[in-house]
Amino acid sequence: MVTDGHNHTKLFSVDAGQSIDELIDQAKKAGFKRIGITEHYEIDFPDDGLNWMFDLNDYTEAFNEWKKKAEPDIELLKGIEFGYQTHVAEEIDKTASSTPLDVVLLSVHLFNGEDFYVHRDCYKLPKKELHTQYMAKMAEMCEKCNNFDVAAHYDYINRYTDNLNNFVLYEDCPKEFDRFFEALITKEKALEINTKSIQKHRERGFTRDLPDPAILNRYKEMGGKYITLGSDSHFPGTFAVCFSDAIEYLKSLGIKETVYFKDHKPYFEAL
Ligand SMILES: [Zn+2]
Ligand SMILES: [Zn+2]
Repeated sequence: MVTDGHNHTKLFSVDAGQSIDELIDQAKKAGFKRIGITEHYEIDFPDDGLNWMFDLNDYTEAFNEWKKKAEPDIELLKGIEFGYQTHVAEEIDKTASSTPLDVVLLSVHLFNGEDFYVHRDCYKLPKKELHTQYMAKMAEMCEKCNNFDVAAHYDYINRYTDNLNNFVLYEDCPKEFDRFFEALITKEKALEINTKSIQKHRERGFTRDLPDPAILNRYKEMGGKYITLGSDSHFPGTFAVCFSDAIEYLKSLGIKETVYFKDHKPYFEAL
């Protein structure tokens, strides 16, 4: 059984609605042996009245309790999902290296400094321009930061679009994808396949839902070996969503294993 390496709980992630017990319960029922807890930590996030950060010592204390309680049925991996912005790159690296963690995810949740969950003006841009700018930021994130393990949801930009053809394709911005992959591969970091993206595509009626094969083929061709799977679950009922479809799909592209991170070291798991 593979690992679901990207999950949130309501104790530390302000937008989540599940407790650790609910999360562990879902994992047990689905037969998982290991899950990653990756709480949101957004340094200097635009003010939306919510608190996107938490006390790192409180997290360590709570996590140690959770871990004890979950064992031996489920192994918990301690992670954080940092929200990237250019001016917080150093702060992310500093925080990541001074906090005991198994896995660090980096994400781009903003476009031009704005949360596109709230400000949807970016969707007025032509698709290629939107995706080019977003992927350039993903590439920059992996070039500037060093203390991370996984680049999360490269396709997050189309999460709130009304255009159901706004699917992220390699051909939208090959240069930016190549820059992104080059940084990941050189630094031996992983590319995440976010299965919540697949689920959202389906739920919203996108014309397609699984990741563009050209993206995965190019990553492999450039030498990319590390792929993680994450459901990005925030609420009960969403743990490991679309995992079986994602696994079958990866296998159909000749990808035979994924990884999880423990103490920042990658461990392969056969699909
Ligand atoms: Zn995210
Ligand atoms: Zn997340």
